[in-house]
Amino acid sequence: MAFHFKNLRLLTGDSDLSAPTSLSVRGGRIERIGDLGMPPEGTEVIDARGALCLPGMVNTHNHSPLMIVRGMVEDLGFAPAYTPGVPQGHWLSGEETLALARLGVMEMLMAGATTIVDYYRKPDALARAAAELGPRALIGGRVMDADTAALAEGRFVHDPALGETTLRDALDLIAHWEGKAGGRISTILAPHAPDTCSRGMLRTFARLAEETGKQVHTHLAQSRMEVAQIQAREGMSPVQLLEDVGLLNADLIAAHCIFLSDDDIARMGRNKVVVAHAPIGNASFGAAAPILALEAAGARITLCTDTKSADMFEAMRTAIASARRRAEMEFVLGARQVFGWGTAAGADALRGHGASGRIAEGGPADFILLDPDAPNLRPAIDGYGIIVHSGSAANVRTVVCDGEILVRDGRPTRADPAEVIAEAQRVAERLWARARA
Ligand SMILES: [Zn+2]
Repeated sequence: MAFHFKNLRLLTGDSDLSAPTSLSVRGGRIERIGDLGMPPEGTEVIDARGALCLPGMVNTHNHSPLMIVRGMVEDLGFAPAYTPGVPQGHWLSGEETLALARLGVMEMLMAGATTIVDYYRKPDALARAAAELGPRALIGGRVMDADTAALAEGRFVHDPALGETTLRDALDLIAHWEGKAGGRISTILAPHAPDTCSRGMLRTFARLAEETGKQVHTHLAQSRMEVAQIQAREGMSPVQLLEDVGLLNADLIAAHCIFLSDDDIARMGRNKVVVAHAPIGNASFGAAAPILALEAAGARITLCTDTKSADMFEAMRTAIASARRRAEMEFVLGARQVFGWGTAAGADALRGHGASGRIAEGGPADFILLDPDAPNLRPAIDGYGIIVHSGSAANVRTVVCDGEILVRDGRPTRADPAEVIAEAQRVAERLWARARA
């Protein structure tokens, strides 16, 4: 496939937005940027009408089937997924998981993410959804071996059978899906969290990481309950526990990272841990991660929406608001830096996906075009500020990933959005009826 986008305004480095340029794509790569003359025969020419063009977003932490509770539990307190009256994740069949994952992946893609991380139970369904819709995806099977009912009461009760089943699914996923969908799908190791995994399970993952060379994605210091439970169970902080079992290193991607001591922050920095910063979800329960302290200590920061709204523009903006809230109204963190977290930093920190998070000749053709007619994107002078402080997922009109147009005129090219939405709605209605019965 070859495309020639003309009349776009490229947001990269110190680009000059006042001078529209062109960009040609061939064989998954950006072939040329700039005046291209007559495009060769067989090239589709697309007039971008002055649209802003930016690198595809890298959304580093999600669980697309958790769509099932979105809009229903946010006001119920922390982690209400194990509360009576709410659909339980383990009720979901493979087909139901697929229906929700298709909605989740489609939403992330339409919001401008060309690389996503998605992990949950029934990971095969997540991989199928990503393969169908087309983004680069790092997929994992979420593994845990704690009894969830006891966890809701703050106690750890080992459930080895759950550990066995979820670990088997996670390993099957790696065996079947690594490098599939034309290389756009890669697999990750995903122990759920320090408080939902036994010490033995965490050690198993340290060994698997060493054997496979894969990165490990987990939740870390997400709640006070987790910190208290690990302190009671292990006599240390969750960060210390991960260090103790051999997981606290540059191959760890840790989501949330909110409730950390200064010592925890120093350990994470020293070990160059990657943080999947989820500012929207954190803020929704009143929390703000010490993200700038983590970065200053040496941790690497990436951004995610964690199945909240899939809007990385909102995530960038909320990251700034929460950093400034934490800094007691100092004007820390700016648009360019947070834009880097959502694009290049994410691509650099994750392995196995082939993205760069940048727009450059010879580089992967992963980029998005925004609506040239959107009033919220004006005035466009420097570009970064308007996108971060005023942009929206709803502005994304075109998404190109690996040289393929996956969203055109705001519609996914590989699936019928009405069908994807109707199917997910049906599944959600059925499970909510069951939860309330
Ligand atoms: Zn999560």
